[in-house]
Amino acid sequence: MAYATTNPFTNEQIEVFPNSTDAEVQTALDMAHVAFRSWRETSFAERATVMQNAADILRRDIDSYSKILTLEMGKLFGEAKAETELSAAIFDYYAKNAERLLAPEELPVATPAEGRAKIIHQPLGVLLTVEPWNFPFYQVARIIAPQLSAGNTVLLKHASNVPQCAAAMDRLMIEAGLPNGAFRNLYADYKQISRIIADHRVRGIALTGSEGAGARVASEAGSALKKCTMELGGADAFIVLEDADLEKTVKWAVFGRHWNAGQVCVSSKRMIVVDSVYDVFLAQYREGVGRLKMGDPMDPTTTLAPLSSQGAADNLREQVEAAVKAGAKAEEIPLDLPNAGAFFRPVILTEVDESNPAMREEFFGPVSMLFRAKNEDDAVRIANATPYGLGGSVFTRDEARGKRVAQRIETGMVFVNHPTMVKADLPFGGVLRSGFGRELVGLGIKEFVNHKLIDFVDIDAQF
Ligand code: NAP
Repeated sequence: MAYATTNPFTNEQIEVFPNSTDAEVQTALDMAHVAFRSWRETSFAERATVMQNAADILRRDIDSYSKILTLEMGKLFGEAKAETELSAAIFDYYAKNAERLLAPEELPVATPAEGRAKIIHQPLGVLLTVEPWNFPFYQVARIIAPQLSAGNTVLLKHASNVPQCAAAMDRLMIEAGLPNGAFRNLYADYKQISRIIADHRVRGIALTGSEGAGARVASEAGSALKKCTMELGGADAFIVLEDADLEKTVKWAVFGRHWNAGQVCVSSKRMIVVDSVYDVFLAQYREGVGRLKMGDPMDPTTTLAPLSSQGAADNLREQVEAAVKAGAKAEEIPLDLPNAGAFFRPVILTEVDESNPAMREEFFGPVSMLFRAKNEDDAVRIANATPYGLGGSVFTRDEARGKRVAQRIETGMVFVNHPTMVKADLPFGGVLRSGFGRELVGLGIKEFVNHKLIDFVDIDAQF
């Protein structure tokens, strides 16, 4: 694959970047390994200064950073600024909390003879992170802020359509004062990635992306007996119960499916609405989607961005056609199409039955599936009728009911009365084919550390 910037608003290729050479990959590995030996010895306070600097730089230069996001993957400029701010908040979070999260833990033991036992958390070494284009800064921050704070060093392979975003993260960490080699972006091809995974100095792999990429990279990590985390796709349920505040629920549904042009792992992709409010919901949802405006992502009045590339739009079109061929009904919402760009008119799919392949696929763009549920139990059944297990939401005025339904949805995250709270201080991750492991908060920083037991035992204690 070629690393290139193509503006999705114009479909114009702006710049092509040469792949990293094998020698560059080797040098990056050598440097990351050398940097690890000293970085692991630095204090939490020193690492926190670098993380805080990264947060401050992102905020100081928020416009220039955000423009690169919009240029390369087409997201609305307002969303790009929100992503840059969220990335800064993640650096803030670990600057403030890494030391506390990795503090040694004394273990309660049954008898004094077992000794004074504690667990300390030590960094593993060089990590490889493979990241997608849909949140080019946030996804990288989710790995490098915790892992660098823990004392690991990181090599990045970013998606081939966001090379300037990847380079911007490289520059950010250098400017923030990170030692040379402790974080490095590579324009690596898949073969080079395989060699990095197999290299004995690489101790862990964190991938965010599709199931296909996850399966390949996880199997390579498995062959090399290396720990990995997988943040993969989703088909989140958005359950609407009859006691929901319908007007506000519809507003959240339109937002939940269309922010970032619908290209979010935790988009509200499947709306499951109980029978008694289904027709009203559908009518209001159609109206709400019909009020979206496609256009220049830099224009503040635009509310629906182009997709990340023309290829992405073409693939989505094929998925919709396949769903229709298998019996679904597709309703295209007739928004005005700009003259050029990777735009995709929103589609509402209904009558998707269980044999339809759409039930087992992720639609990465403004395509909503609507399901009519008989009641609460039936809504939970439909919500769980997917191979994915990332997020989901339930809308109800009754908190106890919301909690009950949330507990029955088989995913890593459920939000009651919200499509998805993406924040620096909430964990992120899924189960089933959405992957394994967690990012952010204490769970994320503990994914790539050695939880080492140290036990001080009385030399006269019995075995
Ligand atoms: P993708 O095609 O799987 O690519 C993700 C990354 O993996 C890219 O850097 C890609 O590089 C790389 N890659 C793919 N195959 C590889 C291989 N065999 N060896 C090494 N690297 C490989 O996914 P995407 O289209 O960029 O992103 C969308 C997907 O990510 C969706 O499924 C979405 O749900 C998921 N996602 C999940 C989360 C989460 O936290 N769970 C968050 C965001 C997105 P190239 O670009 O060079 O191919």
